[in-house]
Amino acid sequence: MRKQENQGPLDVIIVGAGLAGLYMLHRLGGLGFTAKILEAGAGVGGTWYWNRYPGARCDVDNMFYSYSFDEALDEEWNWTERYPSQPELLKYINHVADRFDLWPDIQLNTRVVSAIFDAGRAAWRIGTETAESFSARYAVMATGCLSAANVPDFDGLDGFQGRVFHTGHWPAEEIDFTGRRVGVVGTGSTGVQVIQEVAKQADHLTVFQRTASYVVEAFNRPLDAEDRTYFKANRHELREAAKKTFGGFSTMANDQSALSVTEEDCRRKLEEAWRAGGITLLASFNDFAFSEEANMRAQDFVRDKIRQAVRDPETAEKLLPRHTIGCKRLCLGTNYYETYNRDNVTLVPLGDEGIERITATGLIAGGAAFDLDDLVLATGFDAMTGALNKINIEGRAGLTLRKAWEAGPRTYLGLMSHGFPNLFMVTGPGSPSVLSNMLPTIEHHVDWIADCLDHLRRNEFSEIEADLPAQDRWVEHVNETAAKTLRYSCSSWYLGANVPGKPRVFMPYIGGMPSYRETCTAVVDNGYEGFVLK
Ligand code: FAD
Ligand code: NAP
Repeated sequence: MRKQENQGPLDVIIVGAGLAGLYMLHRLGGLGFTAKILEAGAGVGGTWYWNRYPGARCDVDNMFYSYSFDEALDEEWNWTERYPSQPELLKYINHVADRFDLWPDIQLNTRVVSAIFDAGRAAWRIGTETAESFSARYAVMATGCLSAANVPDFDGLDGFQGRVFHTGHWPAEEIDFTGRRVGVVGTGSTGVQVIQEVAKQADHLTVFQRTASYVVEAFNRPLDAEDRTYFKANRHELREAAKKTFGGFSTMANDQSALSVTEEDCRRKLEEAWRAGGITLLASFNDFAFSEEANMRAQDFVRDKIRQAVRDPETAEKLLPRHTIGCKRLCLGTNYYETYNRDNVTLVPLGDEGIERITATGLIAGGAAFDLDDLVLATGFDAMTGALNKINIEGRAGLTLRKAWEAGPRTYLGLMSHGFPNLFMVTGPGSPSVLSNMLPTIEHHVDWIADCLDHLRRNEFSEIEADLPAQDRWVEHVNETAAKTLRYSCSSWYLGANVPGKPRVFMPYIGGMPSYRETCTAVVDNGYEGFVLK
């Protein structure tokens, strides 16, 4: 393939055209930087471009999962449901790209495969799958925490004669499951959403469950004019209040121990939260993430909900999760457990041997053969580090990111990694990212990076790098904070446990958004403390 050198050097190359990449481009344009997005997909939207599976939707109230940076955007956009669906989110994101005239600086169908730091010029050379090459002083990896699909290495998968779909690479055209025998592997947030919908269409649906999930009821509903007027009139206060909560979600957390009230009162409070709908159930008390005993109260509450929802006691038993609640991400559903009351749905819990192999006509699990026309893999992502490690990122003195992160990711504030000057990450490992409502978190990181680049330009610096001791202290703090919680106690993707061979390190920062924001601000106020500016 012919190697092309594209245009002159840019100030910034952004990799990824999801919510993060688009806002980054908008901010940099406003500051007069030359910037370009390179995006692997054929459209913008990131998560909401790739995950088109039936039932895909946000599990955060739309008012809190929307950009806050522009008044007019808020005014003119009218959300139609409490939790927006994937098509509505994709429409919104395309509208943002139109409205802020971002298209001229977005190059689609362009997968970045390498990023090499040229120390002599203090610039990054970015290479693509089609051998195009770009040069820029700064690189911003807006590659997403949940964008590298985890496709298990099932024996025989290639020989399956039916259709195979991974939810994170869902085709753009409508997929019809009418009259078909469908198998879904995976019962995380995605599996839960897809199972509810495919069950309504398929002739028969078999769900292969490795770990039962805690699924809370969404209570989704259409929004009316009154809802929208309320939000538009109060959005500043609502968003500011959300920013003060641990994860930036809509509800103010209750700062009370679940053990300080009677069991009955605890249940009453949980029931209230359940009826309000949403994943903020665990904000009902302040110690579900810290105390086994408190956590057990919430576990029991949800297990009872499952027993009530599922008619067949044997099936209900198989659906009961046994791990710490909140340890894996809480899932949101709409009559998820009731789906197992349908005659056309079978639940197959996987034993230790898991899925033994895929055959031409189905799969073998627990020694039994299941005939299938379609296989849906809702098996998640190589989270947080997957998309970055797919790119050959080479920093100072030939150090690769893969090597530097061999034993787990190491960053300062989840924004930069020592050895990789002028390379920023949006919602990188070591930042709260996936433990929070991600859109405000993305805006926070993008604003921090944009302000930083502006500062460097105004002060005639050409290089910024995370200082090693500062990074080491931050990584230690991230690990210590995680170790104090119950989140370490199960095999979650937060720990990399879903991908064979991945180091077990708790990747996001679990200190909460308010204190993280304060730290980031203090670092700037102290002259970019912990960064070396040249
Ligand atoms: P992404 O949206 O993942 O975008 C990254 C982009 O980078 C992608 O388009 C990808 O193609 C591109 N890219 C990656 N590598 C390369 C490369 N090498 N070259 C070129 N392009 C590349 N968060 C919430 O807060 N609330 C929710 O309800 C919620 N629901 C979710 C539902 C699903 C199904 C998933 C998967 C995630 C969900 N998330 C949710 C998390 C979600 O990922 C974030 O909210 C947000 O959309 C991330 O935006 P982003 O721009 O950082 O990354
Ligand atoms: P996930 O949470 O990692 O779930 C993957 C599922 O596949 C799990 O049930 C897992 O079992 C199973 N699995 C993985 N490998 C397997 C194997 N080899 N054999 C059998 N089963 C296997 O992934 P996800 O559901 O795609 O969700 C990822 C994240 O995306 C979520 O946690 C959330 O942050 C976000 N998301 C949000 C929403 C939303 O409602 N807004 C929707 C989708 C996704 P184990 O649990 O045993 O590993």
